[in-house]
Amino acid sequence: MAKPTIKELLTTAPQEQTVEVLGWVRNRRGSKQVAFITVNDGSTIHNIQVVVDLNQISEEQLKEVHTGASVRVLGKLVPSQGSGQAVEVQAQEVEVLGPADPEKYPLQPKKHSLEFVRENAHLRARTATFGAVFRVRHHVSYAIHKFFHEEGFFYVHSPIITASDAEGAGAMFRVTTLDLKNPPLTQEGEVNFKEDFFERPTNLTVSGQLEAELMALGLGRVYTFGPTFRAENSNTTRHLAEFWMIEPEAAFYDIHDNMDLAERFVKYVIRHVLEHCADDLAFLEKRLLDEEKSKKESERSPMPLIEKLNFVVENAFERLSYTEAIELLLQSKPQKKNQFQFPVSWGIDLQAEHERYLVEKHFKKPVILTDYPKEIKAFYMKQNDDGKTVRAMDVLFPGIGEIIGGSQREEDYDKLKRRMEEVGISTEEMWWYLDTRRFGSVPHSGFGLGLERFVQFITGMGNIRDVIPFPRTPGNAEF
Ligand code: ATP
Ligand code: MG
Ligand code: MG
Ligand code: MG
Repeated sequence: MAKPTIKELLTTAPQEQTVEVLGWVRNRRGSKQVAFITVNDGSTIHNIQVVVDLNQISEEQLKEVHTGASVRVLGKLVPSQGSGQAVEVQAQEVEVLGPADPEKYPLQPKKHSLEFVRENAHLRARTATFGAVFRVRHHVSYAIHKFFHEEGFFYVHSPIITASDAEGAGAMFRVTTLDLKNPPLTQEGEVNFKEDFFERPTNLTVSGQLEAELMALGLGRVYTFGPTFRAENSNTTRHLAEFWMIEPEAAFYDIHDNMDLAERFVKYVIRHVLEHCADDLAFLEKRLLDEEKSKKESERSPMPLIEKLNFVVENAFERLSYTEAIELLLQSKPQKKNQFQFPVSWGIDLQAEHERYLVEKHFKKPVILTDYPKEIKAFYMKQNDDGKTVRAMDVLFPGIGEIIGGSQREEDYDKLKRRMEEVGISTEEMWWYLDTRRFGSVPHSGFGLGLERFVQFITGMGNIRDVIPFPRTPGNAEF
C-alpha cells in the first residue's frame, strides 16, 4: 500500500492508530512541557500538527527540529484539541532525516515577498504559495487532457525541433551542433547549415499548429500540449522564453465551432479546479486580499478570486469583431484623453492596454474578438470576402489580456499559396503544408492557449514567472 500523504492523514478518522508522518518542518513552537511542530509534505496546503510531550521525548532529541528540516514522525492519530484541524499526531518518535541550519536556511515561517522567494527559487516548492500554485497547475493540466479526451480529441505530439517557423516570426531559438565561433561557411560567407546534423537550419518550435493541422486532416480532432519557445526579448509579466501551449485543431470546425470549443474548454477547466482545488484557491484568495491591501483602491481587483472564477464559468463570453472593438476604443475615455500609450486606429495590433480596457472596463467579462486585419495575423488564417480581414479569434481575460489566439484556417489552395507568396513564405519549402489543401482539403480550425497565462488567471498570480517551476526569461536559465 502506498504511504499515506499528509493530505490523506488529515482526512482519516482518528482512532489512536499509529501513523507515520514524513515531511518538512514549517514551524515549531511550544513550552517547557510540550512542543508543537507543524509539518507539510507538499500534498496539501494544510500542515499536520505534531504534538510532542517533552516528558517522553527529550528536548535533546528535538534539537535539530527547525523550520526546513525534513522529519519522520511516528505517533498516534488523535482528534485535535485546537481549532482548525480535525486531527493531530501525538508523537512517539521524532527523527530528523535532513537538518536545516536555522542560521542559514533562507525560508523562515514569516511571510516572504515574492521577490525574495524568486531569488531563492530552488526552494520555492517548499513555500505555501508555490505549493498551491503548482498543485493548481497540475490540476489544470489534468483537466485539459480530460476535457479533450471527453470531446473526442486525440493527444498528438508535435516536434520540438523543426525547420518551419510557423508564424513567420523572428523570435526563434536556433538549434545547432555547429561550433558557431568557427562555423563552416558557404562561398557567400554564410553559416553552412548543410554541414550540420539536420543538413538545414532548424529551431525550437514556436507553435505546434502546422503539424497539428497535418494530424487533424486525418485523425479529425487532435490537440498538442507541449513546450514552446520564443526568444521574447522584452521583460513583461506575461511572456516567457519557454512556455507550454495547448493547441487543439479540428477538421470540419468553422470559426463559430472554434469559439464555442474555446469557451467550453476554459470553463470546463476552471470548473474542475474550483471543484478539486478548493483549499488551495481559498489560500491564494486570502493571499491576494492581503496583497491588495497595500494597493490603491483603483488598482484592486473588483472581485475576490473564487467569485471571479465562478463568474467566468457562469457567464457567456462577449463576442465581437476587431472592427467593432476599434470603434469602442476610439469612443472610449482613455482614447479621447490620450491616456492610451499606443494610439488606436483600425489596423493596429491591439496592445495589452487596449485588451484590458475592453475586458476590464467596458464589458467586465471575458471577450472573444474575431476578424482581425490580415496584415497583423499569420498567413494561414482564412481570408474573409472583404479582402481586408481574416477569420482570427483572440480570447481576452481580465487581468491578463490575450490567453488564446486562434482562427479558422485557409482551406483554399490558391488563396493560401497567394498569401504565402505575398508575405514571403517559401511555398517550395512548405510543400507539405500546401499538399493538405491540394488533396482532400476541408474547413478546419484551431487555437493555442498559453498554459501559464491561464494558470496566472486561475491563481491570481501577477507575474508569469511565478506559475512555472523553472521560468526562462532573458538572462535566466541557471536551473
Ligand atoms: P502576445 O500578443 O501576448 O505576445 P501572441 O499573439 O504572440 O501573444 P500567439 O502566437 O497567439 O501569442 O500564441 C497563443 C497563446 O500563447 C497566446 O494567446 C498566449 O496565451 C500564449 N503565449 C504567447 N507567447 C507567450 C509567451 N512568450 N509566454 C507565455 N505565453 C505566451
Ligand atoms: Mg507575442
Ligand atoms: Mg497577440
Ligand atoms: Mg495571438
